[in-house]
Amino acid sequence: MWIRSLGDRLIRLHQGDITKLAVDAIVNAANSSLLGGGGVDGAIHRAAGPELLEECRTLKGCPTGQAKITKGYRLPAAHVIHTVGPIWQGGSAGEAELLRSCYVNSLSLADAHGLKSIAFPAISTGVYGYPKEEAATIAISTVAEHLPGKSSVKEVVFVLYSEADYRLYERKAAQLLGRE
Ligand code: ADP
Repeated sequence: MWIRSLGDRLIRLHQGDITKLAVDAIVNAANSSLLGGGGVDGAIHRAAGPELLEECRTLKGCPTGQAKITKGYRLPAAHVIHTVGPIWQGGSAGEAELLRSCYVNSLSLADAHGLKSIAFPAISTGVYGYPKEEAATIAISTVAEHLPGKSSVKEVVFVLYSEADYRLYERKAAQLLGRE
């Protein structure tokens, strides 16, 4: 288990399925309709049950880089924070700033709801095609910048579905946050 403390805050890396995590909120890498899709989005909707889609219909979509919160229904997580990552278009269409906004806005929504623990998938790195290495740097550095301070969020878990992604995050996190 990879774990690092930043003051009284914790950052953890976990390899596996985000739908299994009993945290206050899991983050969904959604599309702008918020009406479900493939990848992690499909897995979250399947595990949460049809009530999640019903609540998502009331939200009327979400712009890229923004985030919206729902209940977790049949998930072990109490809430789902739906954020819409950018589709990779080569890097000069503001993708980095939009990806950064996904992490910042998800963390601030968690704080606004007084949540203590949140788990992120590797947003945009599946069908949206964001280069994994660059996306990992943005994910880890953005969370590390925003975690200290007055936020209610005390623990952030990065959930990597594949072993290769887990290894990449281990390497990037060691570079960016230092070794134990
Ligand atoms: P995007 O459209 O934002 O690229 P994807 O769902 O296609 O979203 O992929 C985002 C990341 O989520 C990928 O790294 C993929 O391997 C990962 N992923 C897919 N299913 C799960 C899951 N059940 N738990 C955690 N991560 C997952």
